[in-house]
This record gives sequence, structure tokens and C-alpha cells, in this order.
Amino acid sequence: MTNASGKSDNVRWHHGHVTRDDRRGLMKQSGCTIWFTGLPASGKSTIAFAVERLLFEAGHAAYVLDGDNIRHGLCGNLGFSADDRAENIRRIGEVARLFVDAGLITLASFVSPYRADRQLVRSLHESAGMSFIEVFVDTPVDACEARDPKGLYKQARAGEISQFTGVNDPYEPPDAAELVIHTVGAKVDDCARCVVELLGQRGVLGA
Ligand code: ADP
Repeated sequence: MTNASGKSDNVRWHHGHVTRDDRRGLMKQSGCTIWFTGLPASGKSTIAFAVERLLFEAGHAAYVLDGDNIRHGLCGNLGFSADDRAENIRRIGEVARLFVDAGLITLASFVSPYRADRQLVRSLHESAGMSFIEVFVDTPVDACEARDPKGLYKQARAGEISQFTGVNDPYEPPDAAELVIHTVGAKVDDCARCVVELLGQRGVLGA
């Protein structure tokens, strides 16, 4: 049977026999999402993968959800309009929430330019009693453009890419991120260590 919006009325959430506390005891960590936001080339993915490595070496289970990787599969049918960006972030938010439920430290690296979209993902987590830690990778646009590791700013300036955040699409910086990282003149390892330190302070890394 389906309801007016075309969804099945017979879909019910099944609760398993393993609790969040059980997983915490086994994995010696609390699942949580670290959400990296910032302009393209600000350093989100570089820092997220460095954090993943540090955590792995310390015996923790972490996984990076990366913007480009996700757009190959789960969100391969979405573009860069505000609606598609919102749907992209909503889907990733739901995946992150499942990962957290499974006990993982989830490192999400997405431009995620709109405050409302990030707030939605925060609410998805907090309403389920899960930690959501927003990290603003605060690199000025001129520094991002000078780095331009994928040549995308160059293409956007040449008019070859439309809706490119920082050039011809807006970016709304967070006003209450749990952590702000300034990357100009900073070493990647130091930036990554700041994130791991915060996880330690918040009691994520322990049974
Ligand atoms: P994003 O994921 O935000 O699009 P990337 O991580 O793909 O950005 O690229 C960031 C670029 O900036 C990389 O070439 C990286 O080596 C460079 N970089 C320089 N300093 C830093 C730093 N402190 N943290 C992160 N990246 C840095």
C-alpha cells in the first residue's frame, strides 16, 4: 500500500539486538560525524584523509565520505543547482547517520555551501542523539585559487564551469562551527592533529 506521496505505509524501522553502547564497548570509540566544509581546494579532503590515517594508526575505525567519490555513485545523477546540492547533502547526511549508527568515525568532506543544508544534516544527527562536529576549513578564496590542484578555478574563470563555488556560486560560512582551521602557512599534519585532539576532548576516542 502507498500513501499520497507514493511511499509505502508498510515500512517500519527494525531495531537490532546490538545497542550503541555495545558497539562503543567493542570498538572503543563513539560513532560521530566530522563534517568538513569550505571552498573548493580549501583543504577539506587532504585534512580528512590525514585524520583518517592518524585515527587508523591509533586503532580507530574511521572512513572518509568524499565529495568527488560520492558524485561518482550515490549522487551521480545530481548536478550543482541549489536543489541538487541540497539533495546531495541530504543523501550524504543519511549515509553518515547510518555509518555513525554502525559505530564509525565518519569524516565527511563536502563544499556544502549552504548553511541550511548543513543544519539539516546536523539536525538528522542530533535528533538521533549522535555527535555532529562541524569543521570550517577557512582558506581565503585567493589562496584556494592559487592552489587549484584540479585546475577547476582556472576553468571556472574561463567560463568553462558554471555554478562553481567561490567564483560564480555563493558560499555561506558557518557561524558556529565546532572547529575553524586556517590552512594558509599551516602543515597538513598539524591541521589533522587539531581535529584528533578535539575528538579526544569530546570523549569520542574511548569505550
Ligand atoms: P578540497 O577537498 O577542499 O577541495 P583538497 O584537499 O582537494 O581541497 O586540496 C587542497 C590543496 O591544498 C592540496 O593541494 C593540499 O596539498 C594543499 N594544502 C596546503 N596546505 C594545506 C593544509 N594546511 N591543509 C590542507 N591542504 C593544504
